[in-house]
Order: sequence, then structure tokens, then C-alpha cells
Amino acid sequence: MSQKKAASTKHVPTRTCVGCRETIAKRSLIRIVRGPDGIRVDPSGKASGRGAYLHQRRECWENALRGPLEQALKTDLTPDERDMLVRHMNQLPPDDGKPSGSPHSAGGIA
Ligand SMILES: [Zn+2]
Repeated sequence: MSQKKAASTKHVPTRTCVGCRETIAKRSLIRIVRGPDGIRVDPSGKASGRGAYLHQRRECWENALRGPLEQALKTDLTPDERDMLVRHMNQLPPDDGKPSGSPHSAGGIA
């Protein structure tokens, strides 16, 4: 008889932040969704459409708005959409409140 391991680890859905490529719990990220009416921020995470995820961190949004977000959503942002996202970004904290920002260490991107 093989003893079954008590692997009662809760499965936490994770997503990748398109700004920094870090994979963390989905609930810790903000979802951007491309719906029938265009791009919008989806706080509920339930809107239908292609979604992309971002930390609640300005740095990640700045990175994402340079291109990765459009790639993730497979669309081009209109000036209005970009403006809306920038305004949302400006309400976010600059970083996690870390005393010293973590440097971009050992990026494996060729
Ligand atoms: Zn991030």
C-alpha cells in the first residue's frame, strides 16, 4: 500500500506580469482586458476578452506600455486607450515601497 501524500496545497492561479515577466498570484495583479469596446482596466478580472496582467506598480506599467502590453493583447493601443492607461498608472505607487529598488539583475533576455 502506498501512502498517499497529503498534498493539500491549494492551487493558486498565477499569471505573468507583462511589465516585468514575474509570475505571481493572479489576485495580486491588475487585469487589462481587450473587450469588444476596446481596452480597459478590469478590476473584477471577470470581463470577457483577451487579458493581460500587471503589477500594481508604476514601473511595470511603464515597461508594458512600451510594447509588451500591445503584444499581450494582440492589438495596437489607440491614443485614447494609452492615455487612459497612463492615467490609471499615475494613481499607482511608484514601487512597492521598497527602501531600495531592486536593480534589473540578470535579465535573461537575449
Ligand atoms: Zn510586474
